[in-house]
Amino acid sequence: MKRAPTVAVIGAGFGGLALAIRLQSAGIRTVLLERRDRPGGRAYVYEQDGFRFDAGPTVVTAPNAIEELFELSGRAIGDYVEMLPVDPFYRLIWQDGVSLDYNADVDAVTSAIARINPADADGYRRFLEFSEAVFREGYLKLGTVPFQDVWSMVRVVPQLIRLKSHRSVYGVVSDFMRDPHLRQAFSFQSLLIGGNPFHVPSIYALIHALERRWGVFFPRGGTGALVEALVRLFQDLGGEIRLNCPVEEIQVRNGVVTGVAVSGGSSIVVDAAASNADVVHTYASLLAGTDRGRAMAKRLARGRYSSSLFVVHFGLKRQYPELAHHTVLFGPRYRELLADIFERGILADDFSLYLHNPSASDPTLAPPGHAGFYALAPVPNLGKAPIDWSTMGPVYRDRILNALEKQLMPGLRENLVTSRIFTPADFRTELNAHLGSAFSLEPVLTQSAWFRVHNRDDRIRNLYFVGAGTHPGAGIPGVVGSAKATAGLMLADLGVR
Ligand SMILES: Cc1cc2nc3c(=O)[nH]c(=O)nc-3n(C[C@H](O)[C@H](O)[C@H](O)COP(=O)(O)OP(=O)(O)OC[C@H]3O[C@@H](n4cnc5c(N)ncnc54)[C@H](O)[C@@H]3O)c2cc1C
Repeated sequence: MKRAPTVAVIGAGFGGLALAIRLQSAGIRTVLLERRDRPGGRAYVYEQDGFRFDAGPTVVTAPNAIEELFELSGRAIGDYVEMLPVDPFYRLIWQDGVSLDYNADVDAVTSAIARINPADADGYRRFLEFSEAVFREGYLKLGTVPFQDVWSMVRVVPQLIRLKSHRSVYGVVSDFMRDPHLRQAFSFQSLLIGGNPFHVPSIYALIHALERRWGVFFPRGGTGALVEALVRLFQDLGGEIRLNCPVEEIQVRNGVVTGVAVSGGSSIVVDAAASNADVVHTYASLLAGTDRGRAMAKRLARGRYSSSLFVVHFGLKRQYPELAHHTVLFGPRYRELLADIFERGILADDFSLYLHNPSASDPTLAPPGHAGFYALAPVPNLGKAPIDWSTMGPVYRDRILNALEKQLMPGLRENLVTSRIFTPADFRTELNAHLGSAFSLEPVLTQSAWFRVHNRDDRIRNLYFVGAGTHPGAGIPGVVGSAKATAGLMLADLGVR
């Protein structure tokens, strides 16, 4: 009798989990191998002194892409996890006291914009039309299809030109709005997937339409609860997950993957392997013994990598009910700060911060009367600035906490009961992230679609990629979309569809 195919997925980030679920749902025996003690990757969870801290993603958009993973096997996401709507999507605050809450209510947002600069209200409505157009072309049509050959890229060039993809998000937003606050308000979103708004193509304006179309959500119990839901779904389908199981080598014979070797000396025989691990780590380390691995590692070394992040989690013995769930606190500089981070490799004295206040949606993530937060600041990756974070980390943490205390959270210091930091050095050691980058290859046009690492390797025919380094890119909707593109290729190659 013919043996059912066995596939290994290396890494249990959102992309790896989504791919593993798609394969297992289609009847492929799938083994998910994760080097850390918990699944989730960037969406890891820390439990500390009674607080439950989500390590990474907190703004969950395009919930339908995740719901689809449950529907593949006739299940419902609601039986696994509750998704809570977040409103406002964001509260944006500037140093001069200007602030803006935004959500999907066009009239309310337009009125708020008019209070900042009346002339930009009309520009916002025109920006919405543009954002919808790039969303339809960039996300709905191209977000889940693989770009395996150059013709797939050539075919979309006319759309890319029509959507002004040669221009930056910031440039296009500036065509619609004149006020500097508003230009920041509708361009900063690309930072959440590692792109400098002054460099990412205007197609990333689709993020605003995507947020508006399906809303912004937070899982009850935190993003970690969504990860747990996906793991449970995978296991209910019969999938196997092995934690504390670092893959050390993808074994290749005559241009074909035959197995994966895991730490401890054992290996698993497979019909195909998909890597959700960092793309440079995969080629440079896991395929170090192959010509293909060495050649790709050399090529990828010449790439541009996204910024890193500095994250400080902190627990307080008080709450701030007036704070929104998601706040962006813009610093005094925008373009120049981003140039310091992405170009000059300078760790500046000023910063822009994202503040996560999950208690606004779910108070159970902290002990009664307490609240847990995280603040993150984009910082240069280790290739741009080889900072010694073991000494700089505590200093930078204090700077951030002091800024928050002064501008947003009076009494923060005297109520601090616990804290922890995650630095670019941790991205490198904990996640095998090349140069400690938080979002893999920078999402610039010359590293997008066909120019990004392909969902299936061009030479090793049963080796696949899923996650932030492959098409379409970082962010939960991106990596869950990449899983759909990769699963389509794998199932066709394995003769399942
Ligand atoms: C702080 C932060 C905040 C963010 N906020 C948001 C947000 O609000 N909304 C949003 O949509 N996106 C956000 N993002 C981006 C988003 O989290 C990521 O793009 C996405 O989660 C990456 O998923 P991935 O599938 O590429 O895998 P990753 O999460 O990178 O996981 C890869 C996994 O591979 C494992 N691995 C590596 N090497 C090996 C090996 N040799 N063997 C076995 N396993 C291995 C790693 O341990 C890891 O678990 C944020 C990112 C960060 C860092």
